[in-house]
Amino acid sequence: EPPILQIDKLRIGQGTKAPIVEQMSLEVRRGETVGLVGESGCGKSLTALSVMGLLAGNLKVVGGTIRLGGEEIQGLSQRKLRRLRGEKMGMIFQEPLTALNPVMTIGAQIAEMVRAHRDVSRKAAHERALELLRLVKIPDPEERLGEYPHQMSGGMRQRVVIAMAIACNPALLIADEPTTALDVTVQAQILELLASLQREENLGLLMITHDLDVVRLVADRIVVMYAGSVVEEGAVEAVLDNPRHPYTLGLISARPTGSFAAGAPRLADIRGSVPAPEDRPAGCVFRDRCPYAQEVCATTRPMLETGQGGHAVRCHFPVDRQTDAPKELAQ
Ligand code: SF4
Ligand code: MG
Repeated sequence: EPPILQIDKLRIGQGTKAPIVEQMSLEVRRGETVGLVGESGCGKSLTALSVMGLLAGNLKVVGGTIRLGGEEIQGLSQRKLRRLRGEKMGMIFQEPLTALNPVMTIGAQIAEMVRAHRDVSRKAAHERALELLRLVKIPDPEERLGEYPHQMSGGMRQRVVIAMAIACNPALLIADEPTTALDVTVQAQILELLASLQREENLGLLMITHDLDVVRLVADRIVVMYAGSVVEEGAVEAVLDNPRHPYTLGLISARPTGSFAAGAPRLADIRGSVPAPEDRPAGCVFRDRCPYAQEVCATTRPMLETGQGGHAVRCHFPVDRQTDAPKELAQ
């Protein structure tokens, strides 16, 4: 069975400007959760939007392939893409309010979603809406169907958005920072819900987050993105317990809870931020911030090389091969 999502050498550009995402490859299989992490501005959300066919403005996929269940989606008509989107994938965004219509009841919105993709009666769509509210564990679902978004809490709204995203039994669910806008106790409940839906419905779940604790909690595999491409990926434990890319090490040690790797450079100590596409250095794009950089890093872009257990890293001098502490931090 082909992966439900297969992105290969994706390139996203904007007119004649430098590409924002390039050499981006990623796979999600049914029944697995993949955590896609990186600082904001790394291209995580753009990658997800391109899969949904939702790139805005003059942003465009200018290279590479995106396959859904083995089927290439580039070049499909808007109509076909819209259908595929409803049937094969659902997406959840950070702020549930933006995904909901403020002047429609919850029940009407979910039923409309169901009817947009399935040829069913009003009554059947209503039944399905009720069933979905139960599935996302919203209490008193009959009453809730008649409520408007503003009558619900943020957590309940996010449950409604999740219900809409899985309305047509998609094989792939993409969640972009789904808990960032919620308070901590609600965050945990939503994560738990997503994890249980993923198991029960055998979904492929792509969880986009900047929070490594979320990844450790829910993901099987992790993909670390920096400045538009993947710098490290592998099984969650392998990568988080033994990071090989200096950027991943920085992310881990920058965590507030990060007791990891005493003496390792903290990302907060590594000056600068994710460079804009037109400002990316030649050679390795992390070079300006990397405490391990050597001469070759300025001239030659490292390839993503896969090692044991599928643990891949894009670095000339992976961390676990360093014998000395980094000589100095980048300025
Ligand atoms: Fe640092 Fe060089 Fe590795 Fe890039 S290739 S992350 S600059 S050591
Ligand atoms: Mg984002």
